Amino acid sequence: MITVKPNCIGCGKCVPVCPFGALSLKDGKIVVSSACTMCGACIKECPVQALEMPVKTSTAKDLSAYKGVWIYVETIIDCGKEIVRPVSLELLSKGRELAGILNEDLCAVVISEDATKLHDEISSYGTNKIYSVSDAGYKDYNTAAYSAVVVNLIEKYKPSMILYPSTYEGRDVSPRVAAEVFCGLTADCTALSIKEGNLVQTRPAFGGNIMADILCPEHRPQMATVRPNVMKKAEPNADNKAEIIEEKIAVSKEVVKIKIIKRHVAKVCKMDNLDQAEVVISGGRGMKNKEGFKMLNDLADTLGGSVGASRAAIDMGLIPKKAQVGQSGVTVSPKVYIACGISGAVQHLVGMENSDTVIAVNKDPQAPIFNACKIGLVGDANQVIPKIIEGVEKKQK
Ligand code: FAD
Ligand code: SF4
Ligand code: SF4
Repeated sequence: MITVKPNCIGCGKCVPVCPFGALSLKDGKIVVSSACTMCGACIKECPVQALEMPVKTSTAKDLSAYKGVWIYVETIIDCGKEIVRPVSLELLSKGRELAGILNEDLCAVVISEDATKLHDEISSYGTNKIYSVSDAGYKDYNTAAYSAVVVNLIEKYKPSMILYPSTYEGRDVSPRVAAEVFCGLTADCTALSIKEGNLVQTRPAFGGNIMADILCPEHRPQMATVRPNVMKKAEPNADNKAEIIEEKIAVSKEVVKIKIIKRHVAKVCKMDNLDQAEVVISGGRGMKNKEGFKMLNDLADTLGGSVGASRAAIDMGLIPKKAQVGQSGVTVSPKVYIACGISGAVQHLVGMENSDTVIAVNKDPQAPIFNACKIGLVGDANQVIPKIIEGVEKKQK
C-alpha cells in the first residue's frame, strides 16, 4: 500500500484521483485501504508530498526463510463441472522438477467454492502440500479476492517461488500479488531452471531475437507466468497423497469492490480450443484471402482439428486475432500441426515448436519453416490442401 507521511494536511485532493477508491479522509487524515494497487496516481496530486511509494530494500527480507515451489492452480468449468485447467498440471510437472533440484516441497494453491474435489488430481502430480481455500465467495474468479488470498498465504508460509499460468486469470492475479509483496514477475517464460539456488526465468526479448535469462536474487518469492503448452505434463501418479492444509480465509467486503452478477460463457468456436486441440491447421499470408482460410476450415473439419494463423494473416483480416499462434498469440502443442503458406518466422515458431509432428506446405523450397518440420510439401497450398482433404476422406470411407 502507498505510505502516508505525518505531514498530510487532510486537504482531500488525492481522494477523487484514486481509480480504486482506496483513499478516504478520517479525522482529518488520509486513510489507505487494502484496495490500493500502488498505481502511484495519487502521489503527484498531493500539494505537500505526503504520499510516497514504500521502498523495500533487498536487506528487508531474510531469503533463507523462503522455501517451497508453489503453483497457482487455476480451475475452469468444463461441461458444468469444475476441473483443474490443464496448464496448471503442466506447471505442477515443471514445479516437481524444480522442487527436486532445490530439495524443497512442491506446493499447490487452490482457491474455489469447494476445492476439496480437486485435491486428488493436484496430488497426483507429485505435490507435497496443497494450500486449499474454499468459500462460497470464491465461486467466481475475482481479482481482489483471489490476490488477497495468495498474499495472505505468502506472508504466512513464505514460498521461494510461485508459478502462475499465463492465462487471463494468471495474468490478472500475479501482477497484483507482485505489487503487494514487492517482488518481480516475469511474464510468459518459455523455460525455467535453477542456478545457484535462484530461478532462471527464460523468455524471448527484443522481438524474439534473443532469449533473456531473468533472475531475482534479492527478493522472494520469485514469480513467473508460463503459457499453456510450453511445459510438458508429466504422468500422474494416483498413489501420491499431498498434505492438505485447509485455510479459512473469508472474502473481505472491504477488499472486494467488484461483484460478479452474471456469468456469460460465449459459444465456443474452433479457435477458442486452439491450445487444447490435437490437430491444428494454421494459415499464413500465403493463403492470400478468406477463400484460402475456408479451405483450411474444410481440412480442419475433415481431420477434427482447429484453425490457427500467423500474425500476417491476422493483420490481413483473414481470421480473428484469437487464432494467432506465436510469441504474441497462443502457444499450441498438438499431435499434428499443419503450417500452410507460413514462412516460419521465429515469432511464429515459438508458438508451435512443441508440436509432435509439424507438416509444412509452402511454395518456396527455401522457406525457414522447412527447417522446423518433419514433413515438408513444396507446392501451391491451393492445390496441395484439396488433395490432402481428398486423400483423408478416401481413407475415412
Ligand atoms: P510471410 O512471412 O509473408 O510468409 C508467407 C509465406 O507464404 C512465404 O513463405 C511464401 O513462400 C508462402 N506462400 C505464398 N503463396 C503461397 C502459396 N500459394 N502456397 C504455399 N505457400 C505460399 N507472427 C506470428 O505468426 N505470431 C506471433 O505471435 C508473432 N508475434 C510477433 C511479435 C513481434 C514483436 C514481432 C516483431 C513480430 C511477430 N510476428 C508474429 C510476425 C512475424 O515476425 C512474421 O512477420 C509473421 O509470422 C509472418 O507471417 P507469414 O509467415 O504468414 O507471412
Ligand atoms: Fe489509489 Fe493508486 Fe494512490 Fe493506491 S497508489 S491510493 S491505488 S491512486
Ligand atoms: Fe493528505 Fe496529500 Fe491527500 Fe491532501 S493530497 S489529503 S495532504 S495525502
